[in-house]
Amino acid sequence: RDIESSTVVFIDGAVGTVTTDADEAEAHKAVADYKVRAEKVAQWTGPAQTKDGHAIQVLANVADGNAARLAAQSQAEGIGLYRTELSFLSASSEPSVDEQAKIYGKVFEAFPDSKVVVRTLDAGSDKPISYATLDDEENPALGVRGLRIARDNESLLTRQLDAIAQAAAQRNEKAQTWVMAPMVATSTEAQWFAELCRERGLVPGAMVEVPAAALMADTIMPHLDFVSIGTNDLTQYTMAADRLSPQLAYLTDPWQPAVLRLIQHTCIGGADNNVPVGVCGEAAADPILACVLVGLGVNSLSAASTAIAGVGAQLAEVTLEQCQEMAEAAIMAPGAPEAREAVRALLDGYAF
Ligand code: PEP
Ligand code: MG
Repeated sequence: RDIESSTVVFIDGAVGTVTTDADEAEAHKAVADYKVRAEKVAQWTGPAQTKDGHAIQVLANVADGNAARLAAQSQAEGIGLYRTELSFLSASSEPSVDEQAKIYGKVFEAFPDSKVVVRTLDAGSDKPISYATLDDEENPALGVRGLRIARDNESLLTRQLDAIAQAAAQRNEKAQTWVMAPMVATSTEAQWFAELCRERGLVPGAMVEVPAAALMADTIMPHLDFVSIGTNDLTQYTMAADRLSPQLAYLTDPWQPAVLRLIQHTCIGGADNNVPVGVCGEAAADPILACVLVGLGVNSLSAASTAIAGVGAQLAEVTLEQCQEMAEAAIMAPGAPEAREAVRALLDGYAF
């Protein structure tokens, strides 16, 4: 509304800027540079590693068998987040163990030999499920959601774990099936979940998406075989800002240094306990933020399969040491825009 009709504007979709007085030559150069980068993304074949050979596992986020089949056509090395609850959003009653095993099996079939990380039901809040979610909570984002539902309904969780184990039993021997709980906040919850998984021969992990879990990483890690940071919720809860609110998007920005510091703290807890730390929130889909995450010590990234080549191609342009410098610049910045700008300045011509 503020720009007059017929004004020539330069829009940089990657940075999120609209410039009305852009220098024409600079704008043409930016477009030409973009084409070079797009070509590199198109040519990237994986597996992901930095310029100096530091490997980062890049995995796909999926919702069902169809999405898993699409992901199998990308360079994803496996699935880093299978959001099981998305299959049940319209179910009016809980599917039987056999029915669930069939649904999970469709995802496993798309990656017969690879790692698949299955997340147990993350019902509640923005993903209400009729047979699992409490009605009429005043504050559902802070309510009985995710793993919390199973405190009063453990058999709902154990039936799901039985179904996952049943489907996993059909997989090739070398295929890894990892299972993680959403919304873990305490080490007691982590221990409880891990025991239920181990009883069924499943590899247990937890999402780190509640700030308490990040802060208590040293006490949570010893119970688990892996963790995966959910930056969408970790940002929402760290910044006390609803992830669905467009007005608060400036706060629910994973470039917030407060969020990055919690990720760093989690990575330190992971490294101290030999527990791999992944990121499966939207942050992992941002190629430049992916460099920061690697610099903070993250071992794997999981994103929508369409984002994987962009992330992989960007990582190939930088060394681990550069990633560490970017991470340091980002966590020392006073805010999210400053963090983004400081890291872009360090990347200079290498930003995708
Ligand atoms: C997250 O919170 O970052 C996450 C990956 O889980 P979801 O977006 O499904 O809540
Ligand atoms: Mg989440």
